[in-house]
Amino acid sequence: MAEPEAMSLRHLPAVAAVLATAEAALLLERHGRIVTTDAIRQVIDDTREILRSTSAVAPSAIDVAQRARDLLEARAPGLRALFNLTGTVLHTNLGRAMLAEAAIEAAVEAMRHPVALEYDLAGGTRGERDDHLRSLLCELTGAQDATVVNNNAAAVLLCLNTFALGREAVVSRGELIEIGGAFRMPDIMARAGARMVEVGTTNRTHPADYHDALNERTGLVLKVHTSNYRIQGFTAEVGARELAAIADAAGVPLLNDLGSGSLVDLSRYGLAKEPTVREAVAEGARLVTFSGDKLLGGPQAGFIVGDHALIEQINRNPLKRALRVDKLRLAAIEATLNLYRDPDRLTERLPTLYFLTRVKADIETQARRLQPTVAERFGDAFVVEVGECLSQVGSGALPLDTLASAALVIRARNSQSTLQRLVAALRMLPRPIIGRVADGSLHLDLRCLVEADESLFLTSLAQLDVDGVVAADP
Ligand SMILES: *Cc1c(COP(=O)(O)O)cnc(C)c1O
Repeated sequence: MAEPEAMSLRHLPAVAAVLATAEAALLLERHGRIVTTDAIRQVIDDTREILRSTSAVAPSAIDVAQRARDLLEARAPGLRALFNLTGTVLHTNLGRAMLAEAAIEAAVEAMRHPVALEYDLAGGTRGERDDHLRSLLCELTGAQDATVVNNNAAAVLLCLNTFALGREAVVSRGELIEIGGAFRMPDIMARAGARMVEVGTTNRTHPADYHDALNERTGLVLKVHTSNYRIQGFTAEVGARELAAIADAAGVPLLNDLGSGSLVDLSRYGLAKEPTVREAVAEGARLVTFSGDKLLGGPQAGFIVGDHALIEQINRNPLKRALRVDKLRLAAIEATLNLYRDPDRLTERLPTLYFLTRVKADIETQARRLQPTVAERFGDAFVVEVGECLSQVGSGALPLDTLASAALVIRARNSQSTLQRLVAALRMLPRPIIGRVADGSLHLDLRCLVEADESLFLTSLAQLDVDGVVAADP
């Protein structure tokens, strides 16, 4: 046994020999010397391990170069574009909102050229980066002033830190939210340096609860939109208008964290209503916070709109500098907000709203159109049918509302493990296809597949190794 092992190990090519092959020359050209050498070394090390425990024959230098190529090509970029056919339109793990063309163009311009980021073109003097968005946000929300930070979590953190550092922040027990990605209101308060004062109970909070909690140590009263859950049944909450009056009487600002919020009344597009920012401002909250990449349909960002004096204080907080937004996103935000000035054309221009308002009949037609090609592609081992399904808004907006939709429903004829391998293989495509497995079938909800991407979708499917998926069955 020892003899052939030693023999094959001795035949293992050296790194230099592999680098000298024509195959390696291509890799050097494409990936550079350091990355290529590392990959070759890794293949040789792995092979050495295998040769020690088996009687396999040592690979040639060309074999090693080819395995190094496989290794390098498997390391595709992590942020690969993919097809979101999960049925969740604003999928946090898949990057939430897809941007409008106008926003993409604006961001590309800002990447390619110098921009007047903090430069006042009229006066030739230093300007402020928030200036570009301030008037737009005020116009769209009715607020006196506005500022923008990295995301809504940052917006809430910054407000708390500005007004409740070393002081008390009052919040209802029914609104102590946790949203995905470890954003928990009590933790954010603690990190902001605020002492949380909980009032009321999980299901019922009354005006007197707030009155009793307010004192000279109070820095901020918080109202938090329960974006991803609803408390139903025997409930009572203090509305924003009444709470604003209570806070005003105590001389303390009310912050209304809307979470998603919306700049337009979604019921006008046939969707369920989510609180609009304009309403929240009109109800009297001195500060309102909301996200850029939820229902608004822009890039990740957090907005704070409200009283001029308070926004000024926020802008003077040193944390604002740490949480500020870069020129790319500012450009994309400005272009996105501009679209809201023409709400009549918003569904055509803003992908998020386009997806949310697609009617089932339209999606079903698309599914019927694609079904024969997909069925043929998947072959006899799978059944591909057009089925009904329910899409979701996602990102903690309208949590209880579903949207009637249509899907390609794929079942494996023989075993459940075949379906699981198919799902995994779809994830590994150059442009991955992500669906949702339910009731033993893979559902590809077509709500978020734009017509222009259909041929790319079919080309991607054509790259699927269906035989490999099926053949792996015992
Ligand atoms: C989503 C959400 C946040 C956090 O917003 P991000 O933009 O994801 O940081 C904060 N508060 C509420 C109520 C939310 O729904």
